[in-house]
Amino acid sequence: MSLLVVGSVAFDSVKTPFGEVDEVLGGSATYFSTAASYFTEVSLVAVVGTDFPEKHLTFLKSRKIDIEGIEKQDGKTFRWKGEYGYELNEARTLDTQLNVFQSFKPKLPENYKDKKIVFLANIDPDLQREVLEQVNKPALVACDTMNFWIEGKRESLLKTLKLVDILLINDGEARELSGEPNLVKAASIILSFGPKTLIIKQGEYGALMFSGDRIFSAPAYPLESIFDPTGAGDCFGGGFMGYLSNTMNFEESNIRKAIIFGSVMASYNVEAFSLDRIKSLDYQEIKDRYQEFKKLTHFEDLS
Ligand code: AMP
Repeated sequence: MSLLVVGSVAFDSVKTPFGEVDEVLGGSATYFSTAASYFTEVSLVAVVGTDFPEKHLTFLKSRKIDIEGIEKQDGKTFRWKGEYGYELNEARTLDTQLNVFQSFKPKLPENYKDKKIVFLANIDPDLQREVLEQVNKPALVACDTMNFWIEGKRESLLKTLKLVDILLINDGEARELSGEPNLVKAASIILSFGPKTLIIKQGEYGALMFSGDRIFSAPAYPLESIFDPTGAGDCFGGGFMGYLSNTMNFEESNIRKAIIFGSVMASYNVEAFSLDRIKSLDYQEIKDRYQEFKKLTHFEDLS
């Protein structure tokens, strides 16, 4: 099956304790599609400005990502600037320039409209709904967001949440969205907003899934060298949705596997700046790390 994603395609400027980069390829949809491309066909919807170089589009095409849905408009590409401290868990946003996204009116290419799996990556919730409204009867819709939209467009975000099956956000965002510091209570508040399943990403502490009264906990892969957490959440989403799109099985046991594939892709991504690590993985490396996760969390039953 193939997967439709809308989100940001961006120039990121990032500083971590281990280095800094200026105006490198980033954006929620870029990280997401690259990670998902190891599992399934991906069709991307986004907008870039006239300053967006051909080489980045060539890279996306080299990952077999369908970029017919990327519009080029007069103006500048979306830009994000962020900084991380030593704990590396949460970015401090220094600057967000929406640029061409401010006037973007997504119009899906005809062959995008029958995609069965849709991911609304982190972007204006109005745009998330505009894309979703153009898709005929999707089988699974998942969504990501961030504090920028929780604070700036809460009402619109709540409308989007009514339409999604799975929401993926980080712990800080779950607390902010629900107004509740305890994550278990926060989860039940957020599930009352619409999604059937909530996945809370906790950076180096892993991820939690809440669905009905069931909870699943996955660790993060213990890495010796982490350079840049930017895009980890989106790569988690890409691995997670890519695997679900590949298998078209949305039972909880398969969702648990998808969470581990998401964790695998996030763990590779943080090993380098921008998309440097995940742009050229091979599927064997992904499977090997999946098995490492299995060993990491194995323990015997009581006898
Ligand atoms: P994460 O996976 O949460 O680390 O996402 C980082 C990516 O999100 C960066 O590549 C940014 O370009 C992108 N980003 C940051 N702020 C926004 C925003 N307000 N809307 C859409 N994308 C954003």
